[in-house]
Amino acid sequence: MTKILVIEDEPSLREEILDILESEGFDVMGAEDGLEGLDSAQTNFPDLILCDVMLPGADGYAVLSGLRQNPDTALIPFIFLTAKATRENVRQGMDLGADDYLTKPFRMDELLNAITSRLTKQATIVQIHQKVTQLQHSNLLKDEFIGSASQELRGPATNIMMALKLLQQAANPEQTQRYIDRLQQECYREIHLIDDLLDLHYLGANERPLQPEKLNLQTWIPAIVEPFKTQARKRQQTLWSNIPPYLPMPVIDAADFKRILSELLNNACKYTAPGGKIVLEARCDLTASEAINPDGQMIMLIVSNEAEIPDKFIPNLFQPFYRVPESDRWQQGGNGLGLTLVEKLAKRLNGKVQISSKAGWTQFTLQLPIETNPPTTLAPNK
Ligand code: CA
Repeated sequence: MTKILVIEDEPSLREEILDILESEGFDVMGAEDGLEGLDSAQTNFPDLILCDVMLPGADGYAVLSGLRQNPDTALIPFIFLTAKATRENVRQGMDLGADDYLTKPFRMDELLNAITSRLTKQATIVQIHQKVTQLQHSNLLKDEFIGSASQELRGPATNIMMALKLLQQAANPEQTQRYIDRLQQECYREIHLIDDLLDLHYLGANERPLQPEKLNLQTWIPAIVEPFKTQARKRQQTLWSNIPPYLPMPVIDAADFKRILSELLNNACKYTAPGGKIVLEARCDLTASEAINPDGQMIMLIVSNEAEIPDKFIPNLFQPFYRVPESDRWQQGGNGLGLTLVEKLAKRLNGKVQISSKAGWTQFTLQLPIETNPPTTLAPNK
């Protein structure tokens, strides 16, 4: 409810204004002198103040200048009510930052119009202010991101320089081969990081329009999982996939969907100890789909792996470049962008990804609302 403070020492006028404003649906409060008004403004933070100029004790100018000095009350719209609106009075009030003047006697519709006009302007100012704050915040995040990205890119580059130096001084073919392998590894890391950064950039800029196509999950999921089974076997891990005999055939962007699943599987393989288990489960959950996507169905992919992440680290997992401290005991060298990409891609497909970790297992659940019929007309790519 919009709160209005009326500072007026003439009781009959004060009461009349309060009554009218109350009947218009405003939350009202009155003050009979300047000091009481200033005090009320600083405790109640009204949305607008009507204030007489001539008041006992502190006059209207003193009230206004007191309000403008306090950052919490400085922006409250302020309308003077005055019997003597000479040029000098008006100038003085405007210099102090009054928003409007009403000369007594005024009609109540004039008062209400002045109030509405101020409140509308104030709403615009608040919106602009919020937008500016948002932009400043996102600018800050961008700066932080550039700083972290530069540091991350420096890592492999420094190792490449070092491996090159060692290669120049290699004493035998075995050493030469070892440094070449190291060089290859670091180049691969650098390229992978640059590719992920570019993908994040393209996602943010929305440069690749969604290209929904009908997918047969029964064959599509195993084709994606297969290379990860090989990867897991190399580290003596077991990767099981549990795909029910019937799954709907969603119309979905296959590239985004594949990337999400691959990142989740890659993540699970990386952070599971040699010998540990990884499980992928696909489900079409009707109860959940009714809540999230009443007009369609929902597919759930659950990737669980044998590793536990302490609760305190979980909120950071989707932050760019974040790595759980001491989680990479097997030197798998993640760049900390995989889960950031997963979250953004899931959002792009109108879905979400959640994580839970307990009893020695970590579980990522991807929920995607799906359409099973292709749209009859495809919207042109923008
Ligand atoms: Ca007065």
